[in-house]
Amino acid sequence: RMKDDGKNNYNVFKPNPDGGGIERLTLENSIRKALQLGEFELHYQPQVDVLTGEVIGTEALVRWNHPTLGLLPPAKFIPIAEETGLIVSLGEWVLRTACLQHQVWREKGFAPMRVSVNLSSRQFSKHDLIERIEEILRETRIDPRYLELEITESMTMNVDGAIEVLGKLKELGMQLCIDDFGTGYSNLYYLKLFSIDRLKIDRSFVRDIMTDTTDADIVATIIAMAHKLGIGVIAEGVEDRDQLDFLHSHSCHEVQGFYYHRPLPAAQFERLLRKRGAMKTNSQR
Ligand code: C2E
Ligand code: MG
Ligand code: MG
Ligand code: MG
Repeated sequence: RMKDDGKNNYNVFKPNPDGGGIERLTLENSIRKALQLGEFELHYQPQVDVLTGEVIGTEALVRWNHPTLGLLPPAKFIPIAEETGLIVSLGEWVLRTACLQHQVWREKGFAPMRVSVNLSSRQFSKHDLIERIEEILRETRIDPRYLELEITESMTMNVDGAIEVLGKLKELGMQLCIDDFGTGYSNLYYLKLFSIDRLKIDRSFVRDIMTDTTDADIVATIIAMAHKLGIGVIAEGVEDRDQLDFLHSHSCHEVQGFYYHRPLPAAQFERLLRKRGAMKTNSQR
């Protein structure tokens, strides 16, 4: 059973059914222009350790600050960027920007924090992926241990040479997370073989945890398997206390979701870090 939570709905720009035509061409051009004009921005969603309440990481999520349409979520432009290959340039911009932001926060004195970046399948299958990433690591001087790449199950299954690519990414010192885990087809043996650091339980399972016993069983099984394999596990899309309690009682201690925080613009994320830092000092008094 494949879960569909409408992630791939895009309704502002509807590509023509034949995949061609004016609209698509216009959108392709405006994405290209938006990259040049700097209209994209990253929001950062905190990842929280349930046991300590601490922010232990953040996922960088791209938005398009469109001059007339306002702030557009990725569902409105990522599919076209994927189709046209522009996702490669956009993805590099995302990676560079997230690494630079991590460095800025470090320089400001915050404890270094894991930053997760989504990789598209199109990027993943580029022959020069490793070189491009190496270049960004050199350029931004981020300590790669704090950088996590989010890939999907299908990416590991569909790309020739995926094993080599993942091996090289690990050699560069980065962490690897399987995003939307449970929605695709997985070869579980690969989890160990690829040295996957973390599984991210898809939010469609978390959403129905309290109402659908199958989903509850799936989530419990993924957590148990991750623990057994010595792999980290995080749940996304946690929106309420009951879901949190369920995850907690099954020993999933890393969560991300609206219950704690929505994705935040960098300035707001930084304010959150400051507030938390202040809280720490207060509680020590
Ligand atoms: P994802 O990587 O699975 O990201 C998680 C999505 O779930 C985000 O949506 C986030 O805002 C949303 N979310 C987090 N917590 C909750 C919650 O409690 N409830 C609900 N209903 N949603 C929650 P967003 O930012 O719209 O991104 C959607 C997808 O777009 C991402 O799914 C990812 O696949 C893609 N995406 C985002 N940024 C990038 C990027 O820089 N590069 C690539 N290739 N894809 C990206
Ligand atoms: Mg993700
Ligand atoms: Mg996800
Ligand atoms: Mg995803």
